[in-house]
Amino acid sequence: MEEIAIQQPLCSQCSAEITSTSKFCTHCGFPENGDEKEKAVFHAKKAMKKNEIMDDHKRISSARNTLYWIAGINLVLGFIHFFASQDIASLIVQIIVGAIYLVLAYWSQKKPFAAILSGLLFYLTMIAILAIAEPATIFSGILFKIIIIAFLAKGVYSASQNSKE
Ligand SMILES: [Zn+2]
Repeated sequence: MEEIAIQQPLCSQCSAEITSTSKFCTHCGFPENGDEKEKAVFHAKKAMKKNEIMDDHKRISSARNTLYWIAGINLVLGFIHFFASQDIASLIVQIIVGAIYLVLAYWSQKKPFAAILSGLLFYLTMIAILAIAEPATIFSGILFKIIIIAFLAKGVYSASQNSKE
């Protein structure tokens, strides 16, 4: 009796072919020929990574919602201010600023890192410009500003972690 062909062993995790001499699957890294402990470690790491990716996605979507929020607030405040003061120039500025945040929020679906980082830098620039024009403004709604910065910064960090994949 002859063996017709020696069947190539397949990785139990990703079904890629693995050579009997190598301990790890070259495709997914599973220690197919390793011991139980090594296999357990592989599964634990995979689960942790999945959790991290889910957390990253949550932080990115919180940052995106924050950008939509700032856009909305700028537009609403712009119109409220306009009806009170009839100042068309500042309304136009508020609309442009609001539109920039809208575009960044939308763009963050495709390029989360670049979009959220731009949003954060733009937000900080706006605070700086206002603070130079009117130093007292830096303290108005400071808690609110810190929360926005924190949400955006977390989003930037999570997006940078994710883009390494
Ligand atoms: Zn594999």
